[in-house]
Amino acid sequence: MNNQFDITLLARKNVRELTPYQSARRLGGNGTVWLNANEYPIAPEFSFNAKNLNRYPECQPVDVITRYATYAGVKPEHVLVSRGADEAIELLIRAFCEPGKDAVIYCPPTYGMYSVSAETFGIEQRVIPTLSDWSPDIKAMASQLDNVKLIYLCSPNNPTGNIINPELIRKVLEMTAGKAIVAVDEAYIEFCPQASIVSWLKNYPNLVILRTLSKAFALAGLRCGFTLANPPVIELLLKVIAPYPLSTPVADIAAQALTEKGIEVMNQRVAEISRNRNALSDALKKLPNVEQVYRSETNYILVKFTDASRVFRTLWEQGIILRDQQRQYGLNGCLRISIGTTEECDSVINAIRNIQTVNI
Ligand SMILES: *Cc1c(COP(=O)(O)O)cnc(C)c1O
Repeated sequence: MNNQFDITLLARKNVRELTPYQSARRLGGNGTVWLNANEYPIAPEFSFNAKNLNRYPECQPVDVITRYATYAGVKPEHVLVSRGADEAIELLIRAFCEPGKDAVIYCPPTYGMYSVSAETFGIEQRVIPTLSDWSPDIKAMASQLDNVKLIYLCSPNNPTGNIINPELIRKVLEMTAGKAIVAVDEAYIEFCPQASIVSWLKNYPNLVILRTLSKAFALAGLRCGFTLANPPVIELLLKVIAPYPLSTPVADIAAQALTEKGIEVMNQRVAEISRNRNALSDALKKLPNVEQVYRSETNYILVKFTDASRVFRTLWEQGIILRDQQRQYGLNGCLRISIGTTEECDSVINAIRNIQTVNI
């Protein structure tokens, strides 16, 4: 028996080399004020009605699909439900990208899972940084489309908070027609519903839209996301999805969240969070160590500090957990702050203001 054998040598090379997604939960912290994962700060109430747990669930629970279709303004054939939008990011790679042959494009600074999913499956990543206003570099993209099967665009973008000009998305859709899927991640679209391009599905067979219940619907712990696309794309994704991607309790609660009442409550949350966001932005702009508060259409703001590491560390030690974005492309000096309750926003402002006072 050789107990010295290194089992990791059996793993695929790209998996040995993979750095897993540094999710907010993995990063830890000992917080009382959690503002690092763009969650809603208060737990919604739900009752659990479905009791027949002896049976396997439906793959695509009908109530969830039809209610989401109504909410999104599409037909049920245009909707796929999955274990969060994260699973959908991966399903697209599994359905469309051949390892060693095809490539994906994404445009940093942006959401980290596009890269992690591509890496997990050994798919080439063509990284095309955004321009200085965080809009996609269409020219650079056009020159690097060979073998590209999938382009991820995030609008509004995480972590910068900006919406991508829809006419730029249209350009990407047109230059990739018949060649690549353009996946527009609308995880935060409830905070700026007018920016959705869901109505374009009828014109662009290569358009895919990603949605989630994790943000405005306050259900990050439920793990429930949606893909909106034309039926041929949905059918391909149904070939590669797990047979039972949602457990019965998840489907039950998702269906409740998507009733008319559930959507009304969601809209109230969005209004409240948007008010808190604007107040927090205004207050931060008055602090001397704040260089810039970027305009946001979401439930978080990106803030550039003169002393970001110190702000991050000082608040961390006080149990206020923010998200450090300094290692993201072009985001030196930047922290991302999720919008919490009014009290939580106040505690952020006070804690940052106190750093100043100590300075003097
Ligand atoms: C949070 C987030 C997701 C993941 O959503 P889940 O449904 O929780 O998996 C996807 N994309 C972006 C841009 C996000 O911020």
